[in-house]
Amino acid sequence: MEDCLFCKIIRGEIPSEKVYEDELVYAFKDINPKAPVHLLIIPKKHYPTLNDLPDEEMDIIAHIHKVVKKLAAEFGVAESGYRTLVNTNKEGGQVIFHLHYHLIGGRQLRA
Ligand code: 5GP
Ligand code: ZN
Repeated sequence: MEDCLFCKIIRGEIPSEKVYEDELVYAFKDINPKAPVHLLIIPKKHYPTLNDLPDEEMDIIAHIHKVVKKLAAEFGVAESGYRTLVNTNKEGGQVIFHLHYHLIGGRQLRA
């Protein structure tokens, strides 16, 4: 999508610290990390929120989780522990309206 920040990151129009990429997803470091490890995993296809992901395209979520698992191991938090979360819409705390998964770890997280 033309004006979406994360679409611009995928296209390389805005720089990012890429940690993984394949034909379906792109993953990069969060610019304002809330923990020593804070990665964002996004589908290359633009969905504004989880609500906009059609049931028939839900396989992308399984794929994102595979990437989360791989990156958690690579970044050394698989055993110590990490959190995976998706914020949806305003009261969910969503700021960027391109579906994304946070992978956060490397310190003790509280509820
Ligand atoms: P949300 O609150 O929408 O779930 O999370 C958006 C995340 O994107 C935030 O954690 C924020 O720090 C991150 N972010 C916002 N702008 C940029 C950017 O230009 N580059 C990167 N790498 N992360 C960004
Ligand atoms: Zn987008």
